[in-house]
Amino acid sequence: MLSISNLSAHYGQIRALNDVSLNVDHGELVALVGPNGAGKTTLMRTISGVQDASAGTILFDGQDITKLSPSERVRQGIAQVPEGRQVFAPMSVEDNLLLGGFTRTRAESGEGIEQAYSMFPRLKERRTQQAGTLSGGEQQMLAMSRALMAKPRLLLLDEPSMGLSPLLVDETFDTIVRLRATGTTIFVVEQNAYKALSIADRGYVMETGRTVLEDAGLALLDNDAVKASYLGV
Ligand code: ATP
Repeated sequence: MLSISNLSAHYGQIRALNDVSLNVDHGELVALVGPNGAGKTTLMRTISGVQDASAGTILFDGQDITKLSPSERVRQGIAQVPEGRQVFAPMSVEDNLLLGGFTRTRAESGEGIEQAYSMFPRLKERRTQQAGTLSGGEQQMLAMSRALMAKPRLLLLDEPSMGLSPLLVDETFDTIVRLRATGTTIFVVEQNAYKALSIADRGYVMETGRTVLEDAGLALLDNDAVKASYLGV
């Protein structure tokens, strides 16, 4: 579904992505883990189109999307939940959801909202509440639901557990597993390597702009180098 070949990205002279190749198949949950500054967020931003690639190609369902604008990529079926969730704080839960459906018809948006509420009854209870007053875990649910309003075929999640308490981290990963069970293909970037690799079909490890390891999620959890560097064991 997503096929990235020899991708590089720069901030001025700084090379943040260096010849990255990876792929995500239909229905897969793929995790990318790595330390601070490895280039994980830059990779997400390059896939969603808010950051330009300086070399390489991104194919989505066989089509070259490397030069498409972010909104064209959303229309193609890629939605991103950015790092830090970034819900529209002064707006209600429901208005946040409606914004996520900007590429859809009114009827489709109404259907999307009902689906979000049946998956997350807590959002329904808080439909008129200002999004900025939700708990961190609820904001994460809202951010994911808002992305799902575009009915994406591929969902990109950037550090979904960042800044959440351990209980809310568990809740967020449960949410990701539930989303995958609905058939959504998911690519998740995480610093919490243990959690991400525990739920992932496959994983990649990234260091200083390069992917250095690739394997099944559970195999990476069992990999000595991964254990030493990322799992503290
Ligand atoms: P973290 O887990 O800390 O968010 P990351 O793996 O997501 O890290 P990136 O944010 O992609 O890493 O950063 C990769 C590299 O690019 C870092 O060296 C960072 O300093 C640099 N970088 C990121 N954004 C910019 C920017 N806007 N201008 C200049 N350099 C940047």
